[in-house]
Amino acid sequence: MTILGCIADDFTGATDLAGLLARSGLPVSLRMGIPDEAPTDTAPFEVIALKCRTAPLDEAVTETLRALDWLQRAGAQRFFWKYCSTFDSTPQGNIGPVAEALMQALGTNQTIYCPAFPENGRAIFMGNLFVGQQPLAESPMKDHPLTPMRDSNLMRLLQPQVTRPVGLVDRLTVAGGPEAIRTAMAATEAAHLVVDAVANEDLYTIAEACMDMPLLTGGSAIAMPLPALYRAAGMLGDSAASFTPPTLAPQAVILSGSCSAMTNQQVARYTATGAPALRLDPLDLAENGVRPALDWLAQQDLTQAPLIYATADPDAVKAAQATLGRARAGEIVEQALATLATAARDAGVRRFVVAGGETSGAVTQALNVARLDIGKEIAPGVPWTYCTSAGHDLALTLKSGNFGAPTFFSDALEAL
Ligand code: ADP
Repeated sequence: MTILGCIADDFTGATDLAGLLARSGLPVSLRMGIPDEAPTDTAPFEVIALKCRTAPLDEAVTETLRALDWLQRAGAQRFFWKYCSTFDSTPQGNIGPVAEALMQALGTNQTIYCPAFPENGRAIFMGNLFVGQQPLAESPMKDHPLTPMRDSNLMRLLQPQVTRPVGLVDRLTVAGGPEAIRTAMAATEAAHLVVDAVANEDLYTIAEACMDMPLLTGGSAIAMPLPALYRAAGMLGDSAASFTPPTLAPQAVILSGSCSAMTNQQVARYTATGAPALRLDPLDLAENGVRPALDWLAQQDLTQAPLIYATADPDAVKAAQATLGRARAGEIVEQALATLATAARDAGVRRFVVAGGETSGAVTQALNVARLDIGKEIAPGVPWTYCTSAGHDLALTLKSGNFGAPTFFSDALEAL
């Protein structure tokens, strides 16, 4: 029986949330999109990954309500709407309108908004969101290509997105404990409450105060305390046996299509260990196809966890994009890594480390993965996950661009 049904507005965000829920040791299942089939074999914590952060609003609302319906059929009575800890949205949405549609469907007239993630430097004070020590609107998020964040005040960001009043539960109230939060919430007419959280302890206080609300919304971190709270309340019953990962053959590959600063460091660190590594060049792939890379892979000792990477510095990326176009350069690399992933699986690889959000999408699609069970966390927000592909049990870790330490690739392999 599912206790908490979660809907995430993007792919690696869903993995992040699933990983934090799984810190509890309780079973967490992640679905890539809304499953076609009716819920069976469900976990106490179910996360559905959508791709609706910047989708047209009516599409985002329709998809979320479909996901809600599936989670309700799985037995969930409490729900979590997960968005980015930098509140990635525009005056049109999609955070507020989706929350309002969920509230209406659930017949509830109040919810909270808490994107804070102190472990990753996201804090909210007096309704203002900070990235490290910078206000959101002074952080690099001000120049995001799709959702530039030009205001740091969450009440001002949220109000144009919703029809009902927005309010604040401030840090002083949170410091008063769960009862003070509940009293403040009962005393206000506001339907949409931004809640301050500066340190991890604040998240535990807020989660305790709000654990029985039908709908909570936020980044991944505010959901992290919920499993322990539900367990303490006796809500998990026998369903709460912890997930046992399958035993897997040692063959592994690392596929990296992220070009973020951190992934560049991770590739440099891993190649410096002397592990086998192949660099993919998009121009070369465009001309000669993926065959040479497949031939290289076929000659590798797969127990040595070879790395195949298109990861490059900004100048090299720009040069490839200038010749091929931004979209085509990306597609060629994603396609190549997806093809290499299936070839690796067919050659006996059972452990996959994948770097890059879009890259992870391409690889999981190629491996035809519909569901992931969540295992041990490697770095904050990056767990090992388990799935089946073409009848084989696989372990997969999907790392979004800037996550993980410079030693992430070795860390991941050691953690299995
Ligand atoms: P991140 O999580 O770091 O954003 P993504 O996988 O989401 O990583 O995005 C990286 C994009 O860059 C992908 O579309 C990938 O195919 C593309 N890419 C990877 N290497 C190169 C390269 N050398 N030149 C151009 N584009 C590249």
